[in-house]
Amino acid sequence: AHLARIEAVDEKVHAFLHVDREGALAQARAVDAKRERGEKLGPLAGVPLALKDIFTTEGIPTTVGSKILEGWIPPYDATLTKKLKAADVVILGKTNMDEFAMGSSTENSAYGPTGNPWDLTRIPGGSGGGSSAALAAYEAPLAIGTDTGGSIRQPAAVTGTVGVKPTYGAVSRYGMVAFSSSLDQGGPCARTVLDAALLHEAIAGHDELDSTSIDAPVPPVVEAARNGDVKGMRVGVVKEFSGEGYQAGVMQRFNESVEVLRELGAEIVEISCPSFDLALSAYYLIAPSECSSNLARFDAMRYGLRVGDDGTRSAEDVTALTREAGFGPEVKRRVMLGTYALSSGYYDAYYGSAQKVRTLITQDFEKAFEQVDVLISPTTPTTAFPIGERADDPMAMYLADLCTIPTNLAGNAAMSLPCGLAPEDGLPVGLQIIAPAMADDRLYKVGAAVE
Ligand code: GLN
Repeated sequence: AHLARIEAVDEKVHAFLHVDREGALAQARAVDAKRERGEKLGPLAGVPLALKDIFTTEGIPTTVGSKILEGWIPPYDATLTKKLKAADVVILGKTNMDEFAMGSSTENSAYGPTGNPWDLTRIPGGSGGGSSAALAAYEAPLAIGTDTGGSIRQPAAVTGTVGVKPTYGAVSRYGMVAFSSSLDQGGPCARTVLDAALLHEAIAGHDELDSTSIDAPVPPVVEAARNGDVKGMRVGVVKEFSGEGYQAGVMQRFNESVEVLRELGAEIVEISCPSFDLALSAYYLIAPSECSSNLARFDAMRYGLRVGDDGTRSAEDVTALTREAGFGPEVKRRVMLGTYALSSGYYDAYYGSAQKVRTLITQDFEKAFEQVDVLISPTTPTTAFPIGERADDPMAMYLADLCTIPTNLAGNAAMSLPCGLAPEDGLPVGLQIIAPAMADDRLYKVGAAVE
């Protein structure tokens, strides 16, 4: 049924870069056969899923939305891919994304934009726009995203779906193409809080192949999602995430959610996190710095594309020609920014200062969580904007992640879930819930209560 739905609508939505029709049917039949033989089935047996094209899949193309990996077929599965297979999930295909997960609209994909199923002339968010659009268009009931600065939560917000960035280190990064390693985190996308929890449990857990993987039990997210409750909880409203630049309808729905939480028995507290105002600036030094180092591996020798290798050119020239042709403008901008910020003489002023701001943001969270159990804010200042509107204005694009970035810098957990439609444009608004590191279950407890 989901393959038929993809066939019917994906020409318009363009959520998928690659649909693995045969593989999906074979996986589904294998689950059926297991069932018939009376074998034990995985926890998500037979449930179809759309996988962001940033996780390696053995024998299936993985492009990261870039031309530089066009034609590359990974020889191995990411740990997350392996876990999905072990849970007996049916992987439908790979979803569209901003190139190397750099963007907030999926317009930076080298393979063309994805439409928001609510209004195909608008962006589905990014970088994981393909995964969230697939959910919103009923092409898949579950999807996987990655969140370096908001790429799970912002697409969830603008498509009226649920997305969770788990605590940093909760989901293995092995086989997840690196953008900014100290920020990158894979996580679940779904249409309900409980579905997200079931997927969360299937993909989280310690992995010795990822040195930053958390070696501790996965918080009881499914139990929390089945028992939504905020009675007696203290919920902090982040003061800095309101005011100028926030769409009226977004604030209206957000304020209504605050009232719902109050009616359900939560105590609402206003919390100030003064360093959050610096988060965007720090992020756009740290993420490009790490990306400039991570993307050095795309040298035309190891993977995918190779341009100009005619036997007369040096390796350096082939590398340069391949990068010129294979990387899009946003990726080049970030590599240049990052290389500059890390260069000798500027390192302390830029990268060093950004790391200090990162510490201040972490301390703001620590202080906040001494007073409250969770923090809340709008996920993103506006609803889905029209395709093309911010494409030539990187600064305007970067603002889409104003509310999501502090969580990545501090490494704690956050969820976006739908909280209604903005009256002025009829488009979905996202409510963000933020929890301390390792307390991912709180997101699901609160989310399930207000859903
Ligand atoms: N939009 C942010 C960026 O462009 C975040 C991306 C992400 O979370 N992968 O870097």
